[in-house]
Amino acid sequence: MQDLTEGIARFQRDVFPAKAELFARLATHHAPHTLFIGCSDARVVPELLTGTEPGDLFVIRTAGNLVPAHSPEADGVTASIEYAVAVLGVTDVVVCGHSACGAMTALARGQDLSGAPAVAAWLRHADASLARTTADGDVPALVRQNVLAQLANLATHPAVARALAQGRIALHGWVYDIPTGRVEDLTPADPALAA
Ligand SMILES: [Zn+2]
Repeated sequence: MQDLTEGIARFQRDVFPAKAELFARLATHHAPHTLFIGCSDARVVPELLTGTEPGDLFVIRTAGNLVPAHSPEADGVTASIEYAVAVLGVTDVVVCGHSACGAMTALARGQDLSGAPAVAAWLRHADASLARTTADGDVPALVRQNVLAQLANLATHPAVARALAQGRIALHGWVYDIPTGRVEDLTPADPALAA
């Protein structure tokens, strides 16, 4: 916790004054251009790897960067997607997977998740990803298939489907490689057909 306290002090002393104009504008404006959906993994830092500033990205992070397909029951992920697309009017949505993903590793290797029942239930949103990955235990292949499957799930949300139909939004699929810093672009021609 002391690290965080010192970090806040450093932020207020060094970072904030250097970007004072930006923060003054952000105090009353919230107009991100991109909805970034990534994994909760601590090693995947959206703003760092995209070189973006506060205010640029509307971020949703979930275990395994999973996006449940639309259902009538509202949940936090659905509400955040709808808000970003229908209210804030983002023009791009990125679903970003990553190397050595714990969620994808657990799935690909069939790890015992009986001690983490909520995780096991949540990972069911990757059933289609798993079904499309032919080689058992191939984590990188599952990571890729999962990004494509989540793009397809994303397109089932009415706000996204509407924006796509009106040509107001573009969907992108990325995989971030932790050891090299590279980002692979998997964007399919038609995300709605990805899965
Ligand atoms: Zn992950």
